[in-house]
Amino acid sequence: MTKKNFDEIIKDSQDISNKWKQVPAPQRGEYIRLFGEELRQKKKELAETITKEARKIKTESLGEVQEAIDMCDFAVGLSRQLYGLTMPSERPNHRLQELWHPLGVVGCITAFNFPMAVFAWNFCLAAVCGNSIIWKPSPHSNECAKGIKEAWDKVSGEFSDLIQILEGGNEEAVSICKDARINLISATGSTQMGKELAPIVSARLGKLLLELGGNNAAIVCPSADLDLTIKGIAFSACGTTGQRCTSLRRLFVHKDIYDDCVSRLKQCFDELNIGCPSKDSSQIGPLISEDSFKTMQKTLNSLKNKNVSVIGGDRIEIEDPNEYYVKPALVLVKEIEEEMLSETFAPILYVKSYEDIKDAIHMQNNVKQGLSSSIFTNDIRESELFLSESGSDCGIANVNIGTSGAEIGGAFGGEKDTGGGRESGSDAWKNYMRRVTATVNYGEELPLAQGVEFDES
Ligand code: NAD
Repeated sequence: MTKKNFDEIIKDSQDISNKWKQVPAPQRGEYIRLFGEELRQKKKELAETITKEARKIKTESLGEVQEAIDMCDFAVGLSRQLYGLTMPSERPNHRLQELWHPLGVVGCITAFNFPMAVFAWNFCLAAVCGNSIIWKPSPHSNECAKGIKEAWDKVSGEFSDLIQILEGGNEEAVSICKDARINLISATGSTQMGKELAPIVSARLGKLLLELGGNNAAIVCPSADLDLTIKGIAFSACGTTGQRCTSLRRLFVHKDIYDDCVSRLKQCFDELNIGCPSKDSSQIGPLISEDSFKTMQKTLNSLKNKNVSVIGGDRIEIEDPNEYYVKPALVLVKEIEEEMLSETFAPILYVKSYEDIKDAIHMQNNVKQGLSSSIFTNDIRESELFLSESGSDCGIANVNIGTSGAEIGGAFGGEKDTGGGRESGSDAWKNYMRRVTATVNYGEELPLAQGVEFDES
């Protein structure tokens, strides 16, 4: 098939969305059910593509495809639950209600690190809500996008055009942001990307859903179960080679257990299996690129120059000399260092001690990002404080679980520089629809709201 140009992609997407929106929502759900079945069939093959392209370890790649399957299941149920409220009208013989209608064309920009699941969050909801989608994947994950598109093509019959892929880099992302024919831009990536794209969409008063960078922290309290805590920290900080938006970057440990916790963490980091992501035994694969490695080293060197204690973080040469495997770094800080305030997309874990839980919560919140957070404690007062309005200011707050590895049932996203968007479960579907407030007068009089009189006599 010849490659479509930008205008053809938009036109085809508009045309198909006009047809698709007329398909009853439960029937749209049936297409998504078939898509989910196809993903189940192809799970292993798709996971291999993720491992090949994004360099995720096998179990995480399989988990990512599973997340896409879970999203299909969720969306199938949702296709019969796109409810609008009916409110009591203040006027006699009137009905006041909400109707939800599709938006049209959704533009979806995705990051390299979740090359299938994040698209599935968007597509499954957008599709059951009656929209088409134009997907601009990361330049690092075009094969993953093709794999997903092939699965859709297999089951979608006349609706194959519902997914249009726009390969490319920043320029292509900017083009869809500028184009008023696209009714929602859903963009996942760095905060920098969000800051560049948001003004472009806002200039045309377009709808925008942003899922941006995180700088996630966990608090370890004196009552924490340290065996469970160390496991949770290791997966969150080192899993996916520290390349999740929810990766654990900052750790605040109560002073009474600080030494014990740090010595266990050192041992745990030493024992992690770093190796080729397609090997069953590997727990940590390479960084996505040389640039990522350089950024990691720049951050660590800047800390070392200030005599901050950095343990690990070195490159390890394994098989291919063009790949960048690293030992996760533990950085023991006495004070909050500037480097801790931004997201370095690599396995670096800053550890600092605290005395008072309120100070720990303050340090956790005192960054620009607001995605994910955790507390490890068996003290109900501490965990409730953490979850209260005076606690974590993030979109995700976990107790006795690390910061990463969310389920699809909840709404996913974060506050502040993380962009404020919510995708995936709960009522995130509302982002993909427009709300109409409809008032119907089935009486013979025309009473005005708030008792306003406007009689002809
Ligand atoms: P990235 O920002 O470099 O790229 C993401 C996407 O945006 C790509 O498709 C890219 O082509 C496009 N893009 C980037 N900069 C752009 C610009 N200036 N103009 C136009 N388009 C641009 O991110 P990445 O390196 O692929 O992924 C890592 C980042 O994504 C991290 O910051 C991570 O926290 C974030 N992320 C967030 C979530 C979330 O749900 N909050 C999920 C995954 C990743």
